[in-house]
Amino acid sequence: MKKIAVIGTGYVGLVSGAGISDFGHHVTCVDILASKIKLLQEGEIPIYEPGLKEILYRNVQAGRINFTTNIEKTIKNSDVIFIAVGTPEGENGLADISAVEDVARSIGRYLSDYKVICTKSTVPIGTGEKICKIIDDAMLKPVEYDYVSNPEFLREGSAVNDFLRPDRVIIGANSDKAFDIMKKVYRPLFINETPMLHTNVATAEMIKYASNAFLALKISYVNEIANLCEEVGADIHQVTKAMGQDGRISKKFLHPGPGFGGSCFPKDTHAIAALSTEKSVPMNTVIAAIKTNVKQKTRMINKLASLIGGLTGKNIAVLGLAFKPNTDDVRESASIDMIDGIIKGGGCVQAYDPIANKSMKEIFPKIKYFNSWETACNNVDAVVIMTEWNEFRGMDLKKLKSIMKSSFILDTRNILSVNLLKNLNFKYDNVGRL
Ligand code: NAD
Repeated sequence: MKKIAVIGTGYVGLVSGAGISDFGHHVTCVDILASKIKLLQEGEIPIYEPGLKEILYRNVQAGRINFTTNIEKTIKNSDVIFIAVGTPEGENGLADISAVEDVARSIGRYLSDYKVICTKSTVPIGTGEKICKIIDDAMLKPVEYDYVSNPEFLREGSAVNDFLRPDRVIIGANSDKAFDIMKKVYRPLFINETPMLHTNVATAEMIKYASNAFLALKISYVNEIANLCEEVGADIHQVTKAMGQDGRISKKFLHPGPGFGGSCFPKDTHAIAALSTEKSVPMNTVIAAIKTNVKQKTRMINKLASLIGGLTGKNIAVLGLAFKPNTDDVRESASIDMIDGIIKGGGCVQAYDPIANKSMKEIFPKIKYFNSWETACNNVDAVVIMTEWNEFRGMDLKKLKSIMKSSFILDTRNILSVNLLKNLNFKYDNVGRL
């Protein structure tokens, strides 16, 4: 059993801390936000993530996980320190790694004996070297340590399962000693024969960006194919189904929609594009994927405006605010652009999300929020579906029609049956469907 510190208790830190404690280690989770730590100490979960409450409860009961703001004590008492703080987009698209640097300074200051220091946050290629320099400069006396890059691939909405059953674990370590310690941290996965790749630090950092940028690229590609389908009378669902049957392509990430959002793809594509330009090997494919994504979000607003004959004075229900289902995260969500577009176009928004109303209120405090799709859609001119929550897939469309003032519906996630919409005489639009 190892003593583990996880610094940063957001979507990644909290799930990783819970998962590592479930592997049998003793975990201390640290955050600078005292209010968050207080909540966790009281048994409350600050984010919505299916299954997280259960796994945390189980490990709190077993005495394997605890929460604190005391970074000094936690660093001194641990064998392995995970850095899982945020790395939001900074100036010129580059990642802002100031929180990681702050943590590195604290680690250097409080390092008292050998430890493995491991970055889980997504950081630009080359950050490992910077972190080591910060740690070295902050040390009061020379202490041996190893630095590891261990990027995280969990997806919000299925994060607990993704952490416990990953496709692979990447360990960028320049020493075998550190790799062996990391194998012990991930022992249950190692026993399960989860692929565990030992690389150098820069390679591990690159794997994360290369993976995220590729997935973003796939989404932008399929969105452009969907847009072209609309012009040539083809159906995107049949196209992507057939494409996905080709093993070289795979069916994953072939869903057209309103443009990718979330806390990772937008900032990570910007970061790798900015880095590549800085290094004079510009990634033109990624730059194009970013541009396509911006256009896709605007295209959705234009679609809505042309479907309903202009936005001015219209009451529009926006169903789904989270950037994907099963999360309360609205960071860079396409619904932000949609709401903004409706407001700028002179319309009124009636918003509803099963979980994310509270998160969106921080961005749009003045729009109206509702507690069900029925109340949000009451007497509206149009409905826009922005997130593919199951609840919206199963909406009673007859009932929906009966409560709306007009019968316009824009389904940016293609979750409603086109035949049913036709039969019920809805005036509808979607992304690339016949
Ligand atoms: P988040 O914003 O949800 O959480 C970050 C946490 O770090 C916050 O609770 C914040 O208070 C805390 N923090 C900031 N500075 C701190 C400091 N100096 N000391 C202690 N705590 C501090 O972020 P997130 O979504 O969990 O992402 C964390 C990292 O993981 C990012 O680099 C992100 O790119 C990466 N990542 C995220 C996901 C995801 O799905 N969210 C998936 C894979 C990787």
